Amino acid sequence: MAPGFARLGGWRVGALATLAIFALLAHAVAGPSPSEPRPKGGGLCETGRRQSPIDIVATRREALPALQFDYVPTPLRIVNDGHTVRVRLAGSRMLIGAERHTLQQFHFHLPGGDRVQGEEFPMAMHWLHKRANGELVALVMLFRLGTAHPALAALLPQMPAAGQPERNLPALTVDPAAWLPVASVRHGYYAYDGSVTAPPCTEGVRWVVLKQVQTLSATQLAQLHQLMPDNARPVQPLQGRSVAEST
Ligand SMILES: [Zn+2]
Repeated sequence: MAPGFARLGGWRVGALATLAIFALLAHAVAGPSPSEPRPKGGGLCETGRRQSPIDIVATRREALPALQFDYVPTPLRIVNDGHTVRVRLAGSRMLIGAERHTLQQFHFHLPGGDRVQGEEFPMAMHWLHKRANGELVALVMLFRLGTAHPALAALLPQMPAAGQPERNLPALTVDPAAWLPVASVRHGYYAYDGSVTAPPCTEGVRWVVLKQVQTLSATQLAQLHQLMPDNARPVQPLQGRSVAEST
Protein backbone atom coordinates (compact mmCIF):
# COMPACT_ATOMS: atom_id res chain seq x y z
CA MET A 1 0.00 0.00 0.00
CA ALA A 2 1.51 3.29 -1.06
CA PRO A 3 1.64 5.89 1.68
CA GLY A 4 -0.72 8.78 1.12
CA PHE A 5 0.40 12.36 1.01
CA ALA A 6 -0.95 12.97 4.48
CA ARG A 7 1.16 10.17 5.93
CA LEU A 8 4.27 11.41 4.20
CA GLY A 9 3.55 14.90 5.46
CA GLY A 10 3.12 13.50 8.94
CA TRP A 11 6.46 11.76 8.71
CA ARG A 12 8.16 14.96 7.67
CA VAL A 13 6.66 16.77 10.63
CA GLY A 14 7.69 13.96 12.97
CA ALA A 15 11.08 13.85 11.34
CA LEU A 16 12.07 17.21 12.72
CA ALA A 17 11.34 16.05 16.24
CA THR A 18 13.39 12.90 15.85
CA LEU A 19 16.21 14.89 14.30
CA ALA A 20 16.24 17.08 17.38
CA ILE A 21 16.38 13.96 19.56
CA PHE A 22 19.28 12.59 17.58
CA ALA A 23 21.12 15.90 17.82
CA LEU A 24 20.63 15.77 21.57
CA LEU A 25 21.98 12.24 21.78
CA ALA A 26 24.95 13.12 19.63
CA HIS A 27 25.71 16.02 21.98
CA ALA A 28 25.44 18.30 19.01
CA VAL A 29 24.51 21.94 19.29
CA ALA A 30 20.86 22.82 19.79
CA GLY A 31 18.51 21.55 17.09
CA PRO A 32 16.85 23.78 14.52
CA SER A 33 14.59 26.48 15.86
CA PRO A 34 10.89 26.29 14.95
CA SER A 35 11.32 29.16 12.48
CA GLU A 36 13.83 27.25 10.37
CA PRO A 37 12.56 25.32 7.37
CA ARG A 38 11.89 21.63 7.80
CA PRO A 39 14.59 19.29 6.55
CA LYS A 40 13.72 17.97 3.11
CA GLY A 41 15.38 14.60 3.55
CA GLY A 42 17.52 13.67 0.57
CA GLY A 43 20.89 12.09 1.20
CA LEU A 44 20.66 8.79 3.02
CA CYS A 45 16.90 9.20 3.39
CA GLU A 46 16.67 8.53 -0.35
CA THR A 47 19.86 6.63 -1.15
CA GLY A 48 20.46 4.70 2.08
CA ARG A 49 20.23 0.91 2.04
CA ARG A 50 19.77 0.29 5.76
CA GLN A 51 16.78 2.46 6.58
CA SER A 52 14.06 2.19 9.22
CA PRO A 53 11.29 1.30 9.82
CA ILE A 54 10.68 -1.96 7.93
CA ASP A 55 8.08 -4.67 7.50
CA ILE A 56 9.42 -7.77 9.25
CA VAL A 57 8.42 -10.73 7.07
CA ALA A 58 11.14 -13.35 6.50
CA THR A 59 13.47 -13.88 9.45
CA ARG A 60 16.59 -15.83 10.26
CA ARG A 61 16.22 -17.69 13.57
CA GLU A 62 19.33 -17.69 15.67
CA ALA A 63 20.53 -17.72 19.27
CA LEU A 64 20.64 -13.97 19.82
CA PRO A 65 22.11 -12.64 23.08
CA ALA A 66 19.58 -12.28 25.88
CA LEU A 67 18.09 -8.91 26.77
CA GLN A 68 18.35 -7.86 30.38
CA PHE A 69 16.82 -4.70 31.74
CA ASP A 70 18.28 -2.77 34.61
CA TYR A 71 15.57 -0.11 34.53
CA VAL A 72 15.08 2.07 37.60
CA PRO A 73 12.51 4.75 38.52
CA THR A 74 13.58 8.31 37.80
CA PRO A 75 12.04 11.80 38.32
CA LEU A 76 9.64 12.62 35.49
CA ARG A 77 10.85 14.95 32.72
CA ILE A 78 8.34 15.06 29.89
CA VAL A 79 7.89 17.29 26.86
CA ASN A 80 5.49 17.56 23.92
CA ASP A 81 7.31 19.24 21.03
CA GLY A 82 4.26 19.14 18.77
CA HIS A 83 5.45 16.00 17.00
CA THR A 84 5.82 13.47 19.79
CA VAL A 85 5.71 13.18 23.55
CA ARG A 86 9.11 12.33 24.96
CA VAL A 87 10.27 11.28 28.42
CA ARG A 88 13.92 11.76 29.30
CA LEU A 89 15.49 9.12 31.50
CA ALA A 90 18.71 8.60 33.40
CA GLY A 91 20.24 5.80 35.40
CA SER A 92 18.68 2.87 33.50
CA ARG A 93 20.51 0.35 31.36
CA MET A 94 19.74 -2.45 28.94
CA LEU A 95 22.18 -5.31 28.44
CA ILE A 96 22.31 -7.20 25.15
CA GLY A 97 24.41 -10.16 26.19
CA ALA A 98 27.25 -8.47 28.07
CA GLU A 99 27.03 -5.15 26.21
CA ARG A 100 25.68 -2.24 28.23
CA HIS A 101 23.44 0.41 26.76
CA THR A 102 22.35 3.51 28.64
CA LEU A 103 18.69 4.47 28.31
CA GLN A 104 18.32 8.06 27.13
CA GLN A 105 14.61 8.58 26.46
CA PHE A 106 11.42 7.09 25.10
CA HIS A 107 8.81 8.60 22.80
CA PHE A 108 5.64 7.64 20.98
CA HIS A 109 4.75 6.97 17.34
CA LEU A 110 1.29 6.91 15.73
CA PRO A 111 1.01 4.53 13.95
CA GLY A 112 3.80 2.16 14.96
CA GLY A 113 6.25 2.38 12.04
CA ASP A 114 7.77 -1.12 12.03
CA ARG A 115 5.33 -3.79 10.84
CA VAL A 116 5.29 -7.54 11.39
CA GLN A 117 3.99 -9.73 8.54
CA GLY A 118 2.36 -6.64 7.08
CA GLU A 119 0.49 -5.80 10.26
CA GLU A 120 0.52 -2.11 11.06
CA PHE A 121 0.30 -1.33 14.76
CA PRO A 122 -1.66 1.70 15.95
CA MET A 123 1.10 2.77 18.34
CA ALA A 124 4.75 2.07 19.09
CA MET A 125 7.26 3.36 21.59
CA HIS A 126 10.91 3.90 20.71
CA TRP A 127 13.32 3.54 23.60
CA LEU A 128 16.66 5.03 22.61
CA HIS A 129 19.79 3.62 24.18
CA LYS A 130 23.40 4.54 23.68
CA ARG A 131 26.49 2.40 23.88
CA ALA A 132 29.73 3.67 25.38
CA ASN A 133 31.08 4.00 21.82
CA GLY A 134 28.19 6.29 20.90
CA GLU A 135 26.22 3.79 18.81
CA LEU A 136 22.46 3.96 19.14
CA VAL A 137 20.14 1.06 19.87
CA ALA A 138 16.42 1.64 19.34
CA LEU A 139 14.25 -0.73 21.36
CA VAL A 140 10.75 -0.91 19.86
CA MET A 141 7.62 -1.80 21.80
CA LEU A 142 4.55 -2.43 19.61
CA PHE A 143 0.96 -1.95 20.75
CA ARG A 144 -2.39 -3.28 19.49
CA LEU A 145 -5.84 -2.21 20.61
CA GLY A 146 -7.06 -4.14 23.63
CA THR A 147 -7.10 -3.64 27.36
CA ALA A 148 -5.79 -0.37 28.76
CA HIS A 149 -2.06 -0.18 29.54
CA PRO A 150 -1.54 0.65 33.23
CA ALA A 151 1.75 2.51 32.79
CA LEU A 152 0.26 4.58 29.98
CA ALA A 153 -2.77 5.30 32.17
CA ALA A 154 -0.42 6.72 34.81
CA LEU A 155 1.54 8.81 32.30
CA LEU A 156 -1.27 10.24 30.15
CA PRO A 157 -2.47 12.79 32.76
CA GLN A 158 1.09 14.15 32.95
CA MET A 159 1.50 14.63 29.20
CA PRO A 160 1.66 18.31 28.29
CA ALA A 161 -0.16 19.72 25.30
CA ALA A 162 1.91 20.73 22.28
CA GLY A 163 3.82 23.93 22.80
CA GLN A 164 3.89 23.81 26.57
CA PRO A 165 7.32 23.86 28.20
CA GLU A 166 8.97 20.68 29.36
CA ARG A 167 7.55 19.47 32.64
CA ASN A 168 10.21 18.74 35.22
CA LEU A 169 8.38 17.00 38.03
CA PRO A 170 10.87 15.76 40.63
CA ALA A 171 8.05 14.73 42.96
CA LEU A 172 6.73 12.30 40.34
CA THR A 173 8.68 9.30 39.19
CA VAL A 174 8.40 7.28 36.02
CA ASP A 175 9.32 3.61 36.23
CA PRO A 176 10.56 2.39 32.85
CA ALA A 177 10.36 -1.23 34.06
CA ALA A 178 6.57 -0.83 34.29
CA TRP A 179 6.47 -0.65 30.47
CA LEU A 180 8.28 -3.91 29.85
CA PRO A 181 6.07 -6.72 28.59
CA VAL A 182 5.90 -9.83 30.72
CA ALA A 183 8.80 -12.15 29.95
CA SER A 184 8.07 -15.65 31.17
CA VAL A 185 11.57 -16.87 30.38
CA ARG A 186 13.24 -14.17 28.31
CA HIS A 187 12.33 -11.39 25.95
CA GLY A 188 12.06 -12.63 22.38
CA TYR A 189 12.98 -10.08 19.75
CA TYR A 190 13.75 -9.27 16.14
CA ALA A 191 16.96 -7.42 15.33
CA TYR A 192 18.06 -5.60 12.22
CA ASP A 193 20.45 -2.89 11.12
CA GLY A 194 18.59 0.35 10.52
CA SER A 195 18.68 4.09 10.76
CA VAL A 196 17.38 7.13 12.50
CA THR A 197 13.85 7.59 11.11
CA ALA A 198 14.29 11.29 10.34
CA PRO A 199 16.65 13.35 8.18
CA PRO A 200 19.57 12.92 7.92
CA CYS A 201 18.44 9.25 8.35
CA THR A 202 21.84 8.30 9.78
CA GLU A 203 22.51 4.58 9.56
CA GLY A 204 24.37 2.32 11.99
CA VAL A 205 21.47 2.13 14.44
CA ARG A 206 20.69 -1.34 15.83
CA TRP A 207 16.94 -1.97 15.92
CA VAL A 208 15.60 -4.37 18.52
CA VAL A 209 11.86 -5.05 18.17
CA LEU A 210 10.23 -6.91 21.05
CA LYS A 211 8.10 -9.78 19.76
CA GLN A 212 5.59 -9.58 22.56
CA VAL A 213 2.98 -7.03 21.50
CA GLN A 214 1.30 -5.07 24.30
CA THR A 215 -2.11 -3.41 24.32
CA LEU A 216 -3.60 0.00 24.86
CA SER A 217 -7.28 0.87 24.92
CA ALA A 218 -9.14 2.77 22.22
CA THR A 219 -9.63 5.60 24.70
CA GLN A 220 -5.90 5.76 25.40
CA LEU A 221 -5.14 5.78 21.68
CA ALA A 222 -7.64 8.61 21.16
CA GLN A 223 -5.98 10.58 23.96
CA LEU A 224 -2.58 10.18 22.31
CA HIS A 225 -4.05 11.32 18.99
CA GLN A 226 -5.25 14.49 20.70
CA LEU A 227 -1.68 15.20 21.83
CA MET A 228 0.32 14.50 18.67
CA PRO A 229 -0.11 14.08 14.90
CA ASP A 230 0.59 10.92 12.94
CA ASN A 231 4.38 10.85 13.05
CA ALA A 232 5.55 7.48 11.73
CA ARG A 233 7.80 7.15 8.70
CA PRO A 234 6.55 4.69 6.04
CA VAL A 235 8.28 1.30 5.92
CA GLN A 236 11.52 1.24 3.94
CA PRO A 237 12.84 -1.43 1.54
CA LEU A 238 15.04 -4.16 3.02
CA GLN A 239 17.68 -3.77 0.28
CA GLY A 240 19.04 -7.25 0.93
CA ARG A 241 19.14 -7.01 4.70
CA SER A 242 18.05 -9.96 6.78
CA VAL A 243 16.16 -9.79 10.05
CA ALA A 244 17.36 -11.95 12.92
CA GLU A 245 14.78 -13.53 15.21
CA SER A 246 15.66 -14.89 18.64
CA THR A 247 15.00 -18.58 19.19
ZN1 LIG B 1 11.06 7.21 17.10
